[in-house]
Amino acid sequence: MDLEKQIAQWPLIGEMSEQREVFWGNPRYGQEAECPFHREDIEDAAERLDRFAPYIQKAFPETEKMGGIIESPLREIPQMQKALGIEGRLFLKCDSHLPISGSVKARGGIYEILKLAETIAMEHGMLKTSDDYGQLTREPFQKLFSGYRVAVGSTGNLGLAIGIISAKLGFQVTVHMSRDARQWKKDLLREKGATVKEYSQDYQQAVAAGRAEAENDPLCHFVDDENSADLFLGYAASGKRLKKQLDAQEIKVDETHPLFVYLPCGVGGAPGGVTFGLKTYLGPHVHCIFAEPVHAPCMTLGLMTGLKDRIRVQDIGLDGKTEADGLAVGRCSSLAAGVMETMVQGCYTVQDEKLFSYLELLARQEQIRIEPSACAGFEGPLHMMYNDECEASHIVWATGGSMVPGEEMNAYVEKGRILRETREKEREI
Ligand SMILES: *Cc1c(COP(=O)(O)O)cnc(C)c1O
Repeated sequence: MDLEKQIAQWPLIGEMSEQREVFWGNPRYGQEAECPFHREDIEDAAERLDRFAPYIQKAFPETEKMGGIIESPLREIPQMQKALGIEGRLFLKCDSHLPISGSVKARGGIYEILKLAETIAMEHGMLKTSDDYGQLTREPFQKLFSGYRVAVGSTGNLGLAIGIISAKLGFQVTVHMSRDARQWKKDLLREKGATVKEYSQDYQQAVAAGRAEAENDPLCHFVDDENSADLFLGYAASGKRLKKQLDAQEIKVDETHPLFVYLPCGVGGAPGGVTFGLKTYLGPHVHCIFAEPVHAPCMTLGLMTGLKDRIRVQDIGLDGKTEADGLAVGRCSSLAAGVMETMVQGCYTVQDEKLFSYLELLARQEQIRIEPSACAGFEGPLHMMYNDECEASHIVWATGGSMVPGEEMNAYVEKGRILRETREKEREI
């Protein structure tokens, strides 16, 4: 079908093409639909992560206290809630502080490589599920994995997660980085022993390069951020874990206690997987909302039009360039969009400047520092405010930031502070 005609059907596209902020409520939310994944798939992923805990604990001593389980705290942020004027309780899911790679990618990305390692080791008769996986730190396994390659395309954080875990296991790993990727991420990856290739174009080009590298090499595993079921299920395992955290903190989720979860969205795998996990374990009273930059609203566009990965933000005149490097994606994942068609409550877009304002506010009110992409969720509760008998809880999913070098983080906070002061001055005039 003619794209222009398609676009003409959707009035919101006019606003989106002018980089204005929009909110899109999903008309198909809650409808029955076929889903390629089931609860057993998440259970399988969760069990695999448990089997690997002794390995993680040995290989990454920072995880020792948590017994080798890569998980983040759920923190209430009452000062931030007051500052934003949000009713109900406000929480931060601190994936920004996940061990090993400091972003949500430490869920899906690490899971996919662990599963790869397990599969290879089992094929060689060197590992059974009943074994102590702590032995994977030993020489024979390192030697085995060194005969295999891993390739991935990334705007930064996925590359970090894949690069760090792959190199640690002994794989030869190449990370193809898009123009949006920060220099410190490339430096860190090289330091960890990964090969980094840099590209002058966007995420799609970096992914295409990774795919091409793996295509003719049967010993090379390509981590396909746009289509990987393993990534998706690694993210989904968070649903089971969050249910436990909510129970432990006595946060109810039911008809009169709805839970709203705001997730920054790039290609859609991380927020999609988390949403699938939350819906599976918490049911109909958890509502997930995706946040995207006004310059790169690929999931909003893909879901609204029903075209999913067959439409790009460039098709409506946007450039896809944003300071939210983790969200700088022009075309959404068809896999994630397919599952989200009936599972995500809605999507909204947010201006880059606001990300820095939220970043600075969180640092000032709660002394928590997260990266710009991870701040997109703070705009969410403002769209959801409604007054009835319900006592709502809100979770902003902080998707990254703890590994950002201090100097760079200071510059982010400073940028947010200047923006705030400028706004305050304007108000006085
Ligand atoms: C990757 C990433 C996201 C979004 O994940 P997708 O799977 O690309 O949708 C959000 N925030 C940060 C910080 C990220 O690195």
